[in-house]
This record gives sequence, structure tokens and C-alpha cells, in this order.
Amino acid sequence: MTTNPSIAIIGGGPGGLMLARLLQRGGRAVAVFERDAHAGERPQGGSLDLHAETGQRAMRLAGLEAEFMAEARPEDQGDRLYDSAGRLVFDHDGAGHDRPEIDRTALRTILLAALAPGTVRWGRRVEAIRPSGAGWELIVEGTAQRFDVVVGADGAWSRVRPLLSDAVPAYEGATLFELGFDVARHPRVDALTGHGKMFAAGDNRLLIAQRNGAGHIRGYAGLRVPEATVQAWQAMPLEEVRTKVLAEFAGWAPELQALIAEGDALAVRPMVALPIGHRWEPCQGATLLGDAAHVMSPFSGEGVNLALADAADLAEALLSGEGWEAVARYEVAMADRAAVAAEGAAQGLRLSISPDALDAVLEHYRERVLA
Ligand SMILES: Cc1cc2nc3c(=O)[nH]c(=O)nc-3n(C[C@H](O)[C@H](O)[C@H](O)COP(=O)(O)OP(=O)(O)OC[C@H]3O[C@@H](n4cnc5c(N)ncnc54)[C@H](O)[C@@H]3O)c2cc1C
Repeated sequence: MTTNPSIAIIGGGPGGLMLARLLQRGGRAVAVFERDAHAGERPQGGSLDLHAETGQRAMRLAGLEAEFMAEARPEDQGDRLYDSAGRLVFDHDGAGHDRPEIDRTALRTILLAALAPGTVRWGRRVEAIRPSGAGWELIVEGTAQRFDVVVGADGAWSRVRPLLSDAVPAYEGATLFELGFDVARHPRVDALTGHGKMFAAGDNRLLIAQRNGAGHIRGYAGLRVPEATVQAWQAMPLEEVRTKVLAEFAGWAPELQALIAEGDALAVRPMVALPIGHRWEPCQGATLLGDAAHVMSPFSGEGVNLALADAADLAEALLSGEGWEAVARYEVAMADRAAVAAEGAAQGLRLSISPDALDAVLEHYRERVLA
């Protein structure tokens, strides 16, 4: 690797933007290619909690701790659990936890504001990547651009990953139907949610409501569905999917059903994951971070934290001046760390949408939340 390689980051999600920020702080020029036309093109999704040793640490290294704390919501770390009859069986206000929530849009805004103007090339979908001498050629809108280093920060369906590995994410048998609520218009959902997030679990079904900033709540109805059914749902109007999902929750308390019947239907999200422990042989000039390297279901709550921690570690490797060996060491440590979280996510999903989910989630809360 030359002492000042040209670096392209594919994907302007939290991981890619954090890497760009840290490399620029280290004096490197970097370009981020992002397929979205602009920062507001699509809603960025719900709230994320940043953990001390991963997400928060990366924000500190990026010099963005104050900006994070200004937007974070430490008051929203509570947990509630209901049974399908609507009885509250666990309620903790989150006191003493150090995992402040931040809205995904607010996090992206902070990271974008910290980058040199023009760093993100909006509306640039990378179509293909080809070897070119000691580097790589990106094909964007039919035009080739050459870089020494290419980092795939392009999420679950990464275009960069096939350069390094044959692995593809597999459907995990469960799907979340996502809904958005305005607190002012949905007092029942507001009252159910409490200060943080609530689960209602039982009989292979799961409801989640998560408090976001600015008077919003995100809701998810989770259930086990064959892959062919999910594909059909993804091709259907969301209102038709809502009717089908609601029918699956027949017999649940009316105030819980309101979480599906009310609110704006936003998306059908099949849960996919790469094989636990996914890794690859080092390949000069190409590497991955975040979901591109280790997408997993959100049931470990680690996805964005891993993406930010990967960015911090990869930046350190690229700035170390120790050549690609430093990146190879990053890849091993990253894969080891992700494997632990992926095991937790797979187990979390298995237990949370299961016949015995209520007992399993309650036990988890007693062991982990009250610990
Ligand atoms: C329903 C749901 C809830 C979640 N909840 C949590 C949670 O509570 N806590 C948590 O830690 N994690 C959560 N996650 C996981 C978290 O969202 C991801 O782990 C995190 O966003 C990964 O960041 P990333 O930067 O690696 O990838 P992404 O956020 O996926 O960003 C990838 C970027 O690459 C761009 N891109 C893709 N392909 C191309 C291309 N060919 N060319 C150019 N650009 C491209 C995309 O537009 C996108 O901006 C959740 C995920 C889901 C689905």
C-alpha cells in the first residue's frame, strides 16, 4: 500500500460515514459513494442505542461526543414486557443504564456535518468493482473510477463483499412488519410504550414499540413466515399486508392489536443474516465493515454499534502506516467480535419469536436488565 492511497468507501450509512470522518481527521482524502440521491431521500428508520465500548467510543474518537450527547435521549432506556392479554409482566425505567438512544436520522446528520464538503457523492450507486493493477476500478453510472483501496460499507446486500467471499445473507424464518406512530395521534400506543421500548411476546408472535425522538414511536409486528410468503408480501400494497398480519394476532388484547391496526405501515423487513463467524482471506486493497461484513437480525441490538466500532478499528489500521497487514489484523478482530454478537442475535430471535417467548424474554430481562 502506498503511504497515501486513494480510498473509496461504498455506502454512506453510519459505518461508512464514521470511517470517512476518522480518516479525514487523520489527514486522508476519501470519497464516499452513496446510492441515495440526498440525505433525506428515505426515512432512516428508528432509534438506536449506542453502547459505551463500541458506538460511544467511536463517537469520542471522532470528536463528536458533545454532538451525540446533545441529540441522545438517555431518558428512553426503559423496558416493558406484556403478555398477549395485555398484562404488564415486567417494567423497568432504564435507570442506571449507559446506552442512550439516538434517532438514526440525527446520527447521520451529525456524521455528515463533520465531513469535508463534497465528501459524499450522492446518487452514486456502485454497479460493479473490477481489479485494476494494484487497485480497483469502480463502475458508477457506466463510468470507471480507480482507487487503491475500496471499503464495502454498503450494507446487507454489499456489492464489495463478492470480491472477498461467496457468503450471502440467508432468511432466518421471521419477518418484522414496521409501523410509525405520531404520539399525539396515538395515545394508546404512547401509554403502552413507556420510557423506551416494549415487547409483547407469546405463541410465535412478537410486538415491539420503541420510543423515538420528536414525538414518534416505531412499532414492529414480528412473526414466523415462510420465505415465499414474505416475498409475496414485499410485492403487495402495505395495507394488504397489514390486514394479513393483524389476522395473525387474532385473540390478542385490543390495545396490543392497535399497534398493528393503527399507525403508518412502513415496511416488510425479512430478518436475514450472514453465517455466524463470516470471514475471508485478506485481499490487498479491499475490505468490509458493518452489515456488509456481518449482517445479523437486530435482536442483539449491536448492528450499528459494530458498524461504528469497525469503522474506528479500520481507520486506525489504515492510518497506522503498517500496510495491509494492519487491515488483515482488523479483519480478524472484527470477525471475532461480530461472531459473539451474531450468536446473541440468532439466539435472541429464536427465543423472542417462539412458543415460549414470554418466559424467555422475561428471564432475559431478569438476568440482563436488572443485573
Ligand atoms: C428493523 C431494524 C431495526 C434495527 N434496530 C437496531 C438497533 O436497535 N440497534 C442497532 O445497533 N442496530 C439495529 N439495526 C441494525 C442497524 O440498522 C445496522 O446494523 C446498521 O445500520 C449497519 O450500518 P452500516 O453502515 O454497516 O450499513 P447500512 O446502514 O445498511 O448503510 C449502507 C449504506 O450503503 C448504501 N448502499 C448500498 N449499496 C450501495 C451501492 N451499490 N452503491 C452505493 N451505496 C450503496 C445504502 O444506501 C446505505 O446508505 C436494525 C436493523 C433493522 C433492519
